[in-house]
Amino acid sequence: MSKLKLTILFIAINSILMISGCSNRTTVSNDNLYGGAGASFGANGLISYSDGILMYNDYSTGEATVLCSRPECTHEKYDYYANPDPKCPAVSPEGYSISAAFLSKKHLYMITSGDFINKLTVYRSDANGENRKIAGYLKTDKVLDGYHVYNNLLIFTGVEISYRESYDNQFGVEFSNVFSTYVVDLDKMDVMYKDPIGKKDYNVLYHTYKDMLVYIYHDYEKNIHEIRRVDLKTFLPMESILLPLYSEEQYAYVVFNKEYGYYLSSNTDGEAEIVRLELKDARKETILKEIKINGIASVTSVVDDFFFITTDYEDTSPEDNWQNYIYDAKEGYLYEVDMAYSGTETRFMSFFTSADDEHLLLITFENSKRGFRYMRIKDFIARSSQYVDME
Ligand SMILES: [Zn+2]
Repeated sequence: MSKLKLTILFIAINSILMISGCSNRTTVSNDNLYGGAGASFGANGLISYSDGILMYNDYSTGEATVLCSRPECTHEKYDYYANPDPKCPAVSPEGYSISAAFLSKKHLYMITSGDFINKLTVYRSDANGENRKIAGYLKTDKVLDGYHVYNNLLIFTGVEISYRESYDNQFGVEFSNVFSTYVVDLDKMDVMYKDPIGKKDYNVLYHTYKDMLVYIYHDYEKNIHEIRRVDLKTFLPMESILLPLYSEEQYAYVVFNKEYGYYLSSNTDGEAEIVRLELKDARKETILKEIKINGIASVTSVVDDFFFITTDYEDTSPEDNWQNYIYDAKEGYLYEVDMAYSGTETRFMSFFTSADDEHLLLITFENSKRGFRYMRIKDFIARSSQYVDME
């Protein structure tokens, strides 16, 4: 695989899944926090929906169960002739593909795409899928990977398809995608905040802490690279924080955890420093110095005292040119982590970090089938086989 492709893959996968831990350790509910790659992730388990049926996997057992509590139900999917009106609460009612499904405030939401452009249907039901009703519609064509659920708000990147007359092609119309950040109040189904994203060549990650939403915004044409902040009580934007610059084209990759953003102060060969940015007042502090790392590096996630760092250092074959490290700030030790041993992709760290500051949810690619593996960060560093695979 070429390096460019690898880079794109790396960015794509990471953008979707490098999602920092939940802001609240004491979360006991099983609300889903983040979604992407055909599943939404909570503190205790995940809901997957890529096969058109809602499944629940508990992290402790990995066991998959259909999100349907009817004892006699066979969970049959929609079929135009055989099953035009599926009754199972776990399947998409009209057979349309499921764009997102998650739990928020004791309700289960299922968002499906239909036959219409720029219209998604939002179904709301009890947590077990019963009493399903249409809650409303989203005037968007897609909910992209990397959505976030916070305080009964759905925060996501949506795509609207716009078209205009054109003589440039045989169809007479030209389509274009308009991307925006949306904050939707799930109670009222109102769009509380909408921010158009000029150009969409990266996945936007959303992070919340104490009623503040933060996300990275790039506009390469206008040379704007910043962290946008939104007050989630008033839904008004706050002043943006400019992203640090490494070189003319390269900006720091900032990851969020709780009230902070983190990045490497420089990512050139040799030594790196980790800078902590307070999201509320934009105060910066270098918290770790003299971390010895080869190659161009980025902090890709931070969970409590663990810093996940990836570099593209080339020492052998192109297949091995991604090095993954976990820096344990408590011990002051940099561990090189082996991605191969746990059945995960070797070339990039692909994981979702869970809500408890202790666990990882790794993405596995066995026989090119996507799976999830749940384990403690410490066990992962120690190459332990103490993990739970989601069936
Ligand atoms: Zn069923």
